Amino acid sequence: MGGTGVPLVKKPNVTPKAVIHEKFGGKASYTIEEVHEAAPNGCPGLAIPQKGPCLYRCHLQLPDFSVISETFRKKKDAEQCAAQMAVQKLGVYPSANSPTTEDASNELVSRIEYLFSDEFLTSESPLGGHFRAALRRNDNLCGAVPVSVFAVYDGKINSLWKVIDPKVEINHCSALSFILRAAVRSPSLVQEGSLLVRRKSPYPSELVDSVLMDQSSDRETAFVNALYIPCDLRDDVKEVTLSICPSRYYLDIVAEKLGQTDASKVLISRPIGKASSEIRLHFSASHDYLAESLVSTPKNGDLVEGPVNVRASFLASQEVYGAAVLASIGYKWKSKDLFFEDVSMQSYYRMLIGKIPSGAYKVSREAIFGAELPTSFTTKNNWRGSFPREMLSSFCRQHRLSEPVFKMSRLPLKENTDAGSQKQLKVTKSALEVEHTNGDTNVVDNDTIGDSESLFRCEVKVSSRLLDLLIQCSPKELYKKHSDGFQDSSLKVLSFLNAYLLGKDMSEEKFNSLAEALDIQFEYPNLLKEFKFSPSVNRDWKVRFEGGTIPNIGDSTKGNGDSAIHIEGPESGVFPSSGCLASTKYTVCLVSVDKSINELLESVDEFEFEMGSGAIIPHAEAALSQMYVDQSARFSVNLPGPELLMAAARDPKRVFPLINSGTCLYLEFCLSLLGVTEPLEERMEQAFFNPPLSKQRVEYAVQHIRDSGATSLVDFGCGSGSLLDSLLNFSTSLRRIAGVDISLKGLARAAKILHTKLNKSIDADSPCSSIESAILYDGSITEFDSRLQGFDIGTCLEVIEHMEEDQATSFGNIVLKSFCPKILIISTPNYEYNVILQKSNLPDQEDDPDEKACRFRNHDHKFEWTREQFSSWAFQLANSHDYTVEFSGVGGSGDCEPGFASQIAVFRRKPAQNSNGLDSHNQELVHCPYNTIWEWSAVIPPDHETLSSLYRHRDGIVDLSDEARTGT
Ligand code: SAH
Ligand code: MG
Repeated sequence: MGGTGVPLVKKPNVTPKAVIHEKFGGKASYTIEEVHEAAPNGCPGLAIPQKGPCLYRCHLQLPDFSVISETFRKKKDAEQCAAQMAVQKLGVYPSANSPTTEDASNELVSRIEYLFSDEFLTSESPLGGHFRAALRRNDNLCGAVPVSVFAVYDGKINSLWKVIDPKVEINHCSALSFILRAAVRSPSLVQEGSLLVRRKSPYPSELVDSVLMDQSSDRETAFVNALYIPCDLRDDVKEVTLSICPSRYYLDIVAEKLGQTDASKVLISRPIGKASSEIRLHFSASHDYLAESLVSTPKNGDLVEGPVNVRASFLASQEVYGAAVLASIGYKWKSKDLFFEDVSMQSYYRMLIGKIPSGAYKVSREAIFGAELPTSFTTKNNWRGSFPREMLSSFCRQHRLSEPVFKMSRLPLKENTDAGSQKQLKVTKSALEVEHTNGDTNVVDNDTIGDSESLFRCEVKVSSRLLDLLIQCSPKELYKKHSDGFQDSSLKVLSFLNAYLLGKDMSEEKFNSLAEALDIQFEYPNLLKEFKFSPSVNRDWKVRFEGGTIPNIGDSTKGNGDSAIHIEGPESGVFPSSGCLASTKYTVCLVSVDKSINELLESVDEFEFEMGSGAIIPHAEAALSQMYVDQSARFSVNLPGPELLMAAARDPKRVFPLINSGTCLYLEFCLSLLGVTEPLEERMEQAFFNPPLSKQRVEYAVQHIRDSGATSLVDFGCGSGSLLDSLLNFSTSLRRIAGVDISLKGLARAAKILHTKLNKSIDADSPCSSIESAILYDGSITEFDSRLQGFDIGTCLEVIEHMEEDQATSFGNIVLKSFCPKILIISTPNYEYNVILQKSNLPDQEDDPDEKACRFRNHDHKFEWTREQFSSWAFQLANSHDYTVEFSGVGGSGDCEPGFASQIAVFRRKPAQNSNGLDSHNQELVHCPYNTIWEWSAVIPPDHETLSSLYRHRDGIVDLSDEARTGT
């Protein structure tokens, strides 16, 4: 705090602990925790167990929140650290006897006097620049500094206000009256006009000379682009040029643009946009702001009073009156010269949409038209763009809210390995609750992160600057990694805020149901107050970010409001499935129906995102789900809001008249699928095993099929048909194959692939020419369908872990009791093997310290079992249904720890029960809940000599029972 020579309010060695005691007394409770592992600072989770000295960490619990200190050798230091963190969080002034308003007011007077001291004239702070520039002002303005700049550029004055009146935080400009009153109280200063202060005695002339000499007045006039934001919403924002003449004070130049006589009538907003931004709004001083100061200085003749400028106020999250000039200009630390930069129309629109979470995501991904704020956070590995937690934090900063406060609870879990138990994870009790805000260094319990015995629950609160609660999100989910908890709860809050700010036909009722879905509670009145300038509240101002319904445009062939998607290119066979990373490129053009207008708006060379998480606009996702790698698609969507168009336009000046021309326009997308990265599970399997694990599973199944001489096979949970497809590359005795899945997308892929392959297979030398029929069903394998009863062999590869455990068990019972295949092969990951998979240096896997042993291989997995869990599950099934079971696996070895990577159980029906069981079932009802999705059959002609030339296939639904023709 030093450096200025001004002592702050009496600061006699007041410790943070004393401050906390002063405020809370016995309500503050300190708990000391011993820490045996020295976690290197800043590397949570990378703690290497070492026998170091015992360290201490302090938990400080206050009535409304708690903090955790870093680790220290002395308990005392840990306590002070915790207290210091609490003091910072409270924003209290560090004085034992809380400073009175009186103290702070006196302090304010001396601070302002100091700013007018000789010493300060050479200050390297941005404010120093204003004092020096003021010396160049003409005549009676020479040396006079507008009060508004103190308010904006002096941090110390800011902290004093907090003591005098915390509300100043909200109405920044009302602070001006405090400065004015302080100036009036100072014997060495004069207050001139309403918002101008200067010294009574002039600066020493040598000092003035040296200061003026120092500044490079030989520079030429610069022309800086700024934007004029009229107050009336019917008037457009327009570009203006500031002619920055080095011999003049820049704020006087800005004042002229606002129709004011000089800088004293200009107020300055907080910086807008990015944290490092120097872009501010400049606007006329309003009567309202100064009401208080006018009591003592009744000179209101030349003050301007105006209505609220909604656009500007929304941008700055503070009230702005009358017209405003948005400019990037000002003095910077340690620089003698004035800094300035052009502000373009496009940056204005980007700032505007950046105030809304989905807009901010679009801007940060440099994909205005393609990107959408994803609806879910699956894993850190798959997330692209700024992380939700950072986004929420910057949202709060931009909207002048308090930092979001996270509360992480750690729940130890016990693994229950009881045979037949349906519940694997048992949460015992809440152990440790920790609260921290963004940016703090006290990450939850560094030394226990990665402890596979823990799950995390994360809660987040967003409050106004004055700590009125706005939103609280308490997800029910438990996270294996604490960082996922932060991100997921942040994303939920962002999604809610997004919906709120866009306010698309949202009644309070709709908000309630949205909030419920997102585990959110909100304070409606506080939200209304806090976002009063948001577009949803100011209905006049329509900021819409959604591409609405599709217009009835030229190439729209269906009448249902969706434009047709035209896909071109070869079918490479590689396609994106949910959970994989798709890499795309696209262009978007603004097109008129008659094509006379065709303006390129955005062109993105590489845009990568996770399929199925809503990270891309729905039309693009719909197109991609039908595409193969190397294909491109063309489709059209309705025009989004003008802000989005202007934010993306390469040349906003050309686009603006087009969208205002009344011509019927739409957007035309041209999208290409460049590549697909499989979900982590597949990537791991492929990087680690040669041949890849999936291939080894297929080969394992093929071996069993061959050995058994099976003629019919059903693949339970066939997905996109990888097993059935690969099977066709081998020659087996199979004649009938069938697949069941609940994923229509997967089934559609499977049908496409099998169709092509089987039609080619009619060549007698094709390995799979034995196949006579193939069929795919849409249905849940937890339900029995009599058409798949009594097949020779059933496979169910890597499926059960995608179901809840009780579902997996009911599948096991149904398949063995009712479907009763002679052989059933079930594979599932071996949880114990994960340690090895995760130790590897996989390509593409980020250096994530939280990526510890406890995670599953795929975010869709509901469980992963140890060998013991799997075998007890399987044994129990086999015993209940007269099957034998044997265990095996692929990847790694069964003979050494930790066993195979994929564990496999092979069930065989005991011969004695064979016919009886089947007969009794055959008498059972015919039950056909599955839907046939696709069917193929090779029909054998009566003389079956020309097998290869005579075949037919049908896409229609065919009864499997017409397989009376068994030829070969
Ligand atoms: N067996 C395939 C796919 C494994 S992915 C392979 O090895 O490549 C898991 C599949 O199980 C998914 O396609 C999913 O849709 C399917 N699935 C999950 N629950 C199901 C259920 N109850 N009934 C049918 N299929 C299910
Ligand atoms: Mg799986």
